[in-house]
Order: sequence, then structure tokens, then C-alpha cells
Amino acid sequence: MILHGIGASAGIGIGHAVCLREQNLDYTGVVFSGKEEEKKRLQTAVDTFCFRTQAMADDLQQRIGEKESEILTGQIMMLNDPFMISQMQEAIDGGSVAEAAVDHVCTLYADMFAGMEDELMRQRSADVQDIRTRMLGILLGEEAVDLSTLPAGSVLIAHDLTPSMTVGLKREKIAAILTETGGKTSHSAILARALEVPAVLSIPDVLSAIADGAVVIADGSAGEIIVDPDFCTINAYEEKRKAFLEERAQLSLYRDRKTADADGNPYALYANIGTPAEAEAAQAAGAEGIGLFRTEFLFMDRSTMPSEEEQTAAYLEVSEQMAGKEVIIRTLDIGGDKAVPYLQMGAEDNPFLGYRAIRYCLDHSEIFQIQLRALLRAGAKYRNIKIMLPLITSVEEVRAAKALLAACKKQLADEGIAFDDGMQVGVMIETPAAVMIADWLAREVDFFSIGTNDLTQYVMAVDRGNARVEKLYTAFHPAVLRSIRSVIQAAKRAGIPVGMCGEAAADPGLIPLLLSFGLDEFSVSASSVLQTRKLIAGWHAADAAAVTEKAMNLSTAEETERYLQAVHQKEEQH
Ligand code: PEP
Ligand code: MG
Repeated sequence: MILHGIGASAGIGIGHAVCLREQNLDYTGVVFSGKEEEKKRLQTAVDTFCFRTQAMADDLQQRIGEKESEILTGQIMMLNDPFMISQMQEAIDGGSVAEAAVDHVCTLYADMFAGMEDELMRQRSADVQDIRTRMLGILLGEEAVDLSTLPAGSVLIAHDLTPSMTVGLKREKIAAILTETGGKTSHSAILARALEVPAVLSIPDVLSAIADGAVVIADGSAGEIIVDPDFCTINAYEEKRKAFLEERAQLSLYRDRKTADADGNPYALYANIGTPAEAEAAQAAGAEGIGLFRTEFLFMDRSTMPSEEEQTAAYLEVSEQMAGKEVIIRTLDIGGDKAVPYLQMGAEDNPFLGYRAIRYCLDHSEIFQIQLRALLRAGAKYRNIKIMLPLITSVEEVRAAKALLAACKKQLADEGIAFDDGMQVGVMIETPAAVMIADWLAREVDFFSIGTNDLTQYVMAVDRGNARVEKLYTAFHPAVLRSIRSVIQAAKRAGIPVGMCGEAAADPGLIPLLLSFGLDEFSVSASSVLQTRKLIAGWHAADAAAVTEKAMNLSTAEETERYLQAVHQKEEQH
């Protein structure tokens, strides 16, 4: 059987299917089997919960650290609280099944924590909700797959792979990732590319089409899936897999070269990262700096916010790892497809147009200032950190963020804590509003970075994760290309550097345009650094200018993409 989807991360993966089906936690059909029996079921489930959670905490402590594992041991303490257990037993005495007792008492506690003044107490609500889900799963025998213990050669299949799920994955165990939703620039796609795991997204009904354990071949470049392949097909794809890996290895010739076009004009080539650990991969891939550190991943997959100390340590780790090279750290960009349950942002009809990123941060200065203080402190040692603000739509937002930064500097100075007083501040240009006022924004900041993932979404009015409108989501559309050109021109006029950290920076077809528009810095995923350096090296400025002239005179996305891809293919053959 052959299935088709969107090829979101290149490469060939061959392995066995592991399906992540949604848990069904509906217990309405469970029959009450007597007070004693229900209490026994409850106690067994509590014991199982504690045993498994302790094992997860031990593993986390070894792999990540003491602090993170404390979140899990805290859950064990919470569930073992004699008062909480006695409330569940009372519910059973009143005729409830064990599932209903857990559901009722946990929901009561979660609501109580959610209504508290203190931020830390409020965050406990997410913990209790987690206890509730996992206890119900144990009682009903509907348990979620533990992503950290998958066997080697797993082809992970899910309706949607949320970023928080991807954060816990062990890349060496995953042969490929398949989902039913998500586009090329959804965050699961970006993370799959960062992990260098082949991924095919938006395959209709893939969860019902593939059985657990089935042999699957995933071609992340072609967006094709073969289920239960015969022996010959497996062999043919094994060969393809080897060829792909060899080609990737060939690129290593470009690792220690400087980034320049064929005339020797230099460009900066940076990497995008989501965790401090990825900075090592970026460094190993030959990145000349970090052009985007998505700090929201530090806030995800946990139940409380990272403290100032923790954040300072994470930012310093990246700054140190890059050893004097520039590190652009983006402030918290949550919302949209990046949920952080303990921040209780609430559900919205249009999350991508809603309460997210800088909008949330300016409204929650107590959270934002912790991050700004951590950034200022982390920059004290190597002075290579720059701050970047996401989703800017107005000059006021920049001024408000800078005022908070100034307040943080004053606090740190008063407290006698070292910090980088000269830290530069830039903005992401990823909304049409920012494009239109780029000239005014340029007067307020030290640099721009164009976020084409969101810019394409907002210019084209198309949800970047929605497969049904995927055809409209393209950076080759003249409206997106004109926006990019106009931002670069505004930066040049104002004399500030301009980079691009959206996925378009690594698109082979767009490289000649970006070179001739005058982009200063390309920031791409670590896995695309060498390929991008090779592509830049292939262009003479005059040739890139001629291609750009022609491309910018085409009126449709389709013609533009077709033309630029043909140009790229011709280049490749040289
Ligand atoms: C972008 O929008 O282009 C970008 C780089 O940020 P993110 O993908 O995290 O939204
Ligand atoms: Mg963005």
C-alpha cells in the first residue's frame, strides 16, 4: 500500500510502526464492583503510578537534571497526600467507581490551584491534571506510549506531533515520523528537521491505515509511504537511504569553509536551534553563529516555568558553546501551535491571530522580566548574545519591551549582579504590519530577522499548519517576495543588518533572490547549513541579479517557483 503526504524532512526511514492513538478516558461504562474492590483498584493504580513516575524521575535526573526530575517526584508526593487519597476513598464510599473518584477529586484540586493568586501555586493545576490523565489511563488500561522508551527503528505515527512530544524523543531510536496534520513549516516539521529524522506530514487517516508493528518505508523527500513492502522494495530503499546519507556526508567538504558567493562576497550563515544541546550540533555543522534560539522550548514539556537561574544557565550554555560567535536569542514565542499548559493562556478561536508571543509577554511582565534578566546576565561573560522580539506589529511594542529591558538593567545594577549593558535588540519581521513600517522599526532596533514561516502565513492569510490550504502557503508568491525585498531595502537604507531565520532561507530556489536583495545573514536548521553554504558558493552576483530580475517579473507563485526550481536544477547539473 502506498500513501502520500507532505515531505517535511528529507531522508529515507525504514522501520516498524508505533501508533500514538488518542487515549479514550471515558469511564461511563465502568460498573461499580463494591466499595472494597474499588478501593483496592484505586490503591493498585496509585502504586503503579508512583512506581512508574519514580522510574521516569530517575531517568530524567540522569539525562537532564535534578530540578526537572523534582517535578515528577512532586507529583508522587501530591498523589500520596493522605487527605487527597481519603477524599477519593470517600467518593467510593458514596458509590463512585475508582475512575470517577480520581476524576472528581483531581478536577477539584486542579480548579482550586487554577484560582490561586500565586503563580507557582497556579502552575500546580497542570500537575494535578497530568496526575488525573495518567491515573485514568492506568485504571482503564488506556496508557499513552512513553516516547522516551521507544525501541530502535520506530516509525512514529500520530495525529499531530506536538512540539512538546518531539522534545522528549530520542532521535537515534526514530526511523521516521508520520502525521495526519501539519505543513512544511509547522513546528513539528521544524523539529523533525532539527533532529534529522525523515518526516511525512498530513497523510490522510494514516493512523487507521497502518497497524501497530507493520513494516513501513517513509520517503521524507518525496512525501511517500510504503506499507508492508516486499523484499525487493526494501532493498531498493535501503540503497536510496545509503545514497542519501552519502550525499549528506559529501557536504562535509563545506564544513570549514567561509560562506561567500562565487565572487567572494561574504555572507553570515547561522543556525536555528530549539535547545542548548542543539548548539553543539550547530557548531559541528559549521554554523557561524546562532540566528534564532527558540526559547519557548525551554518552557515546554514541563509543569512549571524555568526559573531565572535555570534560564541564565541555558542561555550561557549556548553562548559558551558558540565561543564568541554571535547568538541571537528570541524571547518567549508561545501561543499559535506552541502550547504551554501551565501558563493558562486559554483556548482561542484563532490562536495564530491571538494572544501570543510579544503580546502575552508585555501583558505578563513578571514572566517576561525573568527572561530579560536571565538574558542580560547570561550575556555578561562573552557579550555575544543579542535579544530578538517575536511577532512585532508596532513601534509601541518595541518601546515597551525596551523599557522593560532598561528596568531589568537598573534592577541588576542595584543588586550588584553582572550583566551585558550593551546587549543589542532586534525584531523579527513576520507580520505584514512590520513589513509596512520597517522604516520606522529600523530606527528603534539594532537588527532585523525575517521570519518567513509566519510572514508567509500572514501575508497569504493561510494557516501554516492546515493541509487543506497548503497550496496557498508559499514563499514563492510575489506578495511574499516583494515583502522580503522591501524589508531588506528598508534595513539597508537605515544601515542595520538584516537576516532571515524562516525556512525560506534554506530554500535552494530562493537563494539567488536573497543574495541579490542584499540579505546579510541566512539562519537555517543545523541540517541545512552545509547545503546552504554550497548553494551560496555557486552563485556569481551578476547571475543571481539576472535571475532575480526575471523572477520578480513573474506574476504568479506557480510560475515563479517553476522558474526558480528549473534554474536550481540547471545549477546542480554544473
Ligand atoms: C518564522 O515565523 O519564520 C520563525 C522563524 O519563527 P517560528 O517558525 O518559530 O514561528
Ligand atoms: Mg514566527
